Amino acid sequence: MKFGTKAVHAGVEPDPSTGAIMTPIYQTSTYVQEEPSKHKGYAYARGANPTRNALQKSIAALENGKYALCFSSGMGATDTVIKLLNQGDEVITSNDLYGGSYRMFKRVFERLGIKFHFIDMANPDNIIPFVNKNTKLIWLETPSNPLMNIIDIEACVTLAKKHNLLVAVDNTFASPYLQNPLDLGADIVMHSVTKYLGGHSDVVMGALVTNQEKLHQELAFIQNSCGATPGPQDSFLVLRGIKTLHLRMERHCLNGKKIAEYLRNHPKVDHVYWPGFADHPNHEIAKKQMRDFGGMLSFTLKDDRLEKAFDLMKMVQVFSLAESLGGVESLINHPASMTHASIPREERIKNGLVDSLIRLSIGVEDAEDLIEDLEQALHKI
Ligand SMILES: *Cc1c(COP(=O)(O)O)cnc(C)c1O
Repeated sequence: MKFGTKAVHAGVEPDPSTGAIMTPIYQTSTYVQEEPSKHKGYAYARGANPTRNALQKSIAALENGKYALCFSSGMGATDTVIKLLNQGDEVITSNDLYGGSYRMFKRVFERLGIKFHFIDMANPDNIIPFVNKNTKLIWLETPSNPLMNIIDIEACVTLAKKHNLLVAVDNTFASPYLQNPLDLGADIVMHSVTKYLGGHSDVVMGALVTNQEKLHQELAFIQNSCGATPGPQDSFLVLRGIKTLHLRMERHCLNGKKIAEYLRNHPKVDHVYWPGFADHPNHEIAKKQMRDFGGMLSFTLKDDRLEKAFDLMKMVQVFSLAESLGGVESLINHPASMTHASIPREERIKNGLVDSLIRLSIGVEDAEDLIEDLEQALHKI
């Protein structure tokens, strides 16, 4: 089945008791049992809920995976993956990670005895010197946030398999419409469902997808033990959001391209980070592993002062100043003071997150209005 058909249909069956075409919101914490431990697969709602199950089937299908688990946030999903590890284990991950992932790895899990190596993965061979007998996991994010670096998933998987390492890919920025890491050999795909999958800026949720039954059972055990499960109302909203994922992504990509090109030609703009440009350092890899280049981009100003970036964010009218991404409405944000504020300044600048860096999440509005908005704002600063 092709992507759009799966987005509309996967996981959703007419309700057996009424024929309702949409899966009902099963707002219940527990289920009545015929006799102790004799039930219809549902005992207590932390473990399972029919609305959540439908959503999990839908997300699994979109990622070409067999199993999916939904979580109360993206961080809840990531937390569950790291809890597969033991004290003394090591993880190799990229140095321009989502700020919240960096914070969790560094400030929660390092304290509990897990070691993280934050490295530049643009060239996968950079991973090799960091592999030792304690290494268990490679954690990738591509395209990366906010610099839109591209990591070669297949090359990392080949390397990881030689050393028996798990590969988990944070696929939030691409969405399953643009990229399917399981097809490239990854073991686990993670999503902040909050972003493109939900798509309407009204839900916080996460997901993990895998093709391996044993791994799925381990993840499900940790989830049920630790408790980061989402509620049925949120599951319903995301099921509804996913039905238009392919339509939204087409427009995000089209608008993203127009705005990336517009900004690149603007005299006040220094650099535009967008993997669709032929001179993006890993453009060929992006072309190989992604279906299109998405609606996320970042740019810097020639006048690299914090105040200039702040002025621009004040002047825009259609773009909203906010964290998050992947919704129907266009957002503007300032990584250095918002999403990446927990990364120390020297480290931030060293990795290219300069003071004037601005990130855009391009929505599904008309591109002409978005360009006009940026034009008037850039004119005033
Ligand atoms: C938002 C985000 C997360 C965290 O997800 P939440 O749903 O906010 O917990 C992780 N990775 C990336 C790339 C994100 O954008």
